[in-house]
Amino acid sequence: MTVRLVIFGRQGAGKGTQCSNIVNTYGVAHISTGDMLRAAVKAETELGLKAKAVMDSGGLVGDDIMNGIVAERITEPDAVEAGFVLDGYPRTQPQAEALLAALGDDSLDAVINLDVPLEEVTARMKARGREDDTDEAIANRLGLYEQETRPVLEFFDEQDLLVTVDGLGSEEEVSSRLISAINEQL
Ligand code: AMP
Repeated sequence: MTVRLVIFGRQGAGKGTQCSNIVNTYGVAHISTGDMLRAAVKAETELGLKAKAVMDSGGLVGDDIMNGIVAERITEPDAVEAGFVLDGYPRTQPQAEALLAALGDDSLDAVINLDVPLEEVTARMKARGREDDTDEAIANRLGLYEQETRPVLEFFDEQDLLVTVDGLGSEEEVSSRLISAINEQL
């Protein structure tokens, strides 16, 4: 079975944890553009050198670069055979359109919005006390999410692909909600 998913959620919504649960359940490839970019920065590849400054400032890496990376990754054998869960992409409208174009006749099974209210993710991020989690950085990242990514959710909603899952509760509760929601779309 091939399962193609996209997951959205504010920073601090528990997307990383829930992606692991999705991978364990469906055997899909976890494609996190943030992880790919961080690996490129660490390896000091040409991409990494380009992306580093943008990432440090909390901005978004250019659409053309991101679209190229993802178009390549989803054609690798693991993603073609088992499918994937895309995490962190698409983040802008041009990225959403490029993804659908790259998929061609292969359709997405579901686009999940892991929904945790703004006040709750803000509290969670402050509690984890990471060095880059200053009040300003948190506000910037969450602001960018509303501005750039919210319209992408609306775009997928218009295509009847969007499923919103309540992200409040224990990891197990959220995971079983999420898996049921995905199963309903398959
Ligand atoms: P993340 O771990 O998903 O929050 O990504 C970390 C950083 O990588 C982001 O703050 C962006 O600078 C960059 N990034 C990751 N995915 C994308 C994307 N789809 N489009 C643009 N920039 C991205």
